[in-house]
Amino acid sequence: MGRHPYAVVGGGPAAGAAARALAAAGADVVLLTAEDRPPYDRTVLSTEVLLHPGASVPEVWPAAADWRARIQVRTGTEVVGLDPEARTLTTAHGDSLTYATALLAPGAEPRRLSVSGSEGPSIHYLRDVADALAISHTFGRARRLVVVGGGVIGLEVAAAAAMRGVDVEVVEARARVLGRGVPAPIAAWIVALHERHGVRIRTGAAPDAVQRSPDGAVSGVRLIDGTVLPADAVVVGIGIEPREHLAHAAGLACDDGILVDASGRTSHPAVFAAGDAVRMRRTGESLGIRLESFSAAGRQGEVAAHTMLGRHDSFTDVPWWWSDQYDATLHSTGVATPNAREVLVGTPEAPLVLSLVGERLVAAGGVGHGPGIARPVRAAGRVIAAGGRVDLRELRTSGGDPASLAAAFRAAARASA
Ligand code: NAP
Repeated sequence: MGRHPYAVVGGGPAAGAAARALAAAGADVVLLTAEDRPPYDRTVLSTEVLLHPGASVPEVWPAAADWRARIQVRTGTEVVGLDPEARTLTTAHGDSLTYATALLAPGAEPRRLSVSGSEGPSIHYLRDVADALAISHTFGRARRLVVVGGGVIGLEVAAAAAMRGVDVEVVEARARVLGRGVPAPIAAWIVALHERHGVRIRTGAAPDAVQRSPDGAVSGVRLIDGTVLPADAVVVGIGIEPREHLAHAAGLACDDGILVDASGRTSHPAVFAAGDAVRMRRTGESLGIRLESFSAAGRQGEVAAHTMLGRHDSFTDVPWWWSDQYDATLHSTGVATPNAREVLVGTPEAPLVLSLVGERLVAAGGVGHGPGIARPVRAAGRVIAAGGRVDLRELRTSGGDPASLAAAFRAAARASA
């Protein structure tokens, strides 16, 4: 087989969006994914699939799109080698493939819990469809579940387990849950919601050992302070590690993520990268940023594809993400810096926290029952994108309900534009 003009490695939103943008522009693409299906929407794995084991997992490409025919998908194909000078990819089957331009979007790996007894059956991680189905199956027979990690994965899993009638305890190492990027009042609202559903949340605690009975079944989790939590199963959600080994072994610059610029360029001109695997360093940024979200991954894939096609594009988006737990939705946008001050607006039923540096809005996060909080948070994202200021007095007199706040943010975004 001759040289492929474009090769995409990965099966998540970044790979899917990149292949789509390339194919929609008329290019032929080969996409290699280790999983057994074309790129799909992982956001349902920690919600719908856990609640309804028969739930379908949507593909990221519309079924009827004519450009799909230009994407050759090779499922069950793990890429294990990259030679940027020869422009070849090697698969775990031992095949090799030549490309003109490649995009790496291998995503991230769940961080492993490494304590006595943590290897073996009934310890679950959540990354792909097979993991979600295994956890969902566990909910059907486990009585007591310990969730390790009080981040988005841990709390979404805890909510689904509680709704399936499983007794749940969450163990979080930090002083509070959702410690990365979610303001304390929003996290407290979520904790109260879990407690109303019978979920126990233990902070400042971490496992020391997973206890097993003589037949190997999980019987409990021992914490560092000696407390033993009885359990039949454990789900671990303690963060992710970018999958950079392929790029690193190929000599590409990596630093806790494959280093890319705002257009998805790596340190090699014929290799691009996008999604959870990358650390993006925009001009003037020394550290760079890893954006662990579905929306950013998709947009980064699209930006890289446009650059691969020779068009000018760069990632300037304000990141946003959401989390569904029970009947509640948490929405967050922007990136809060340590020097930001937090201002609470909204109502007790739907609190919203604004992060401000001086008078400038840099992040906003809110929570509420139903999807209503999405509107003010997304509108706040438009204010951030416009580099805009918000008039706090005006916001406070707006009534504080999600619809009034959304209107106030939209007006502020227009004024800043
Ligand atoms: P996370 O949000 O980083 O939360 C993990 C939490 O576990 C952190 O508070 C972490 O503390 C804590 N932790 C670390 N080691 C621990 C230990 N040994 N015992 C107890 N707690 C420990 O990560 P995650 O929940 O695993 O999520 C992984 C990825 O999935 C994220 O990138 C996220 O974007 C994605 N995801 C997103 C959504 C969504 O947007 N709705 C839903 C599901 C998953 P430290 O921070 O101090 O390590």
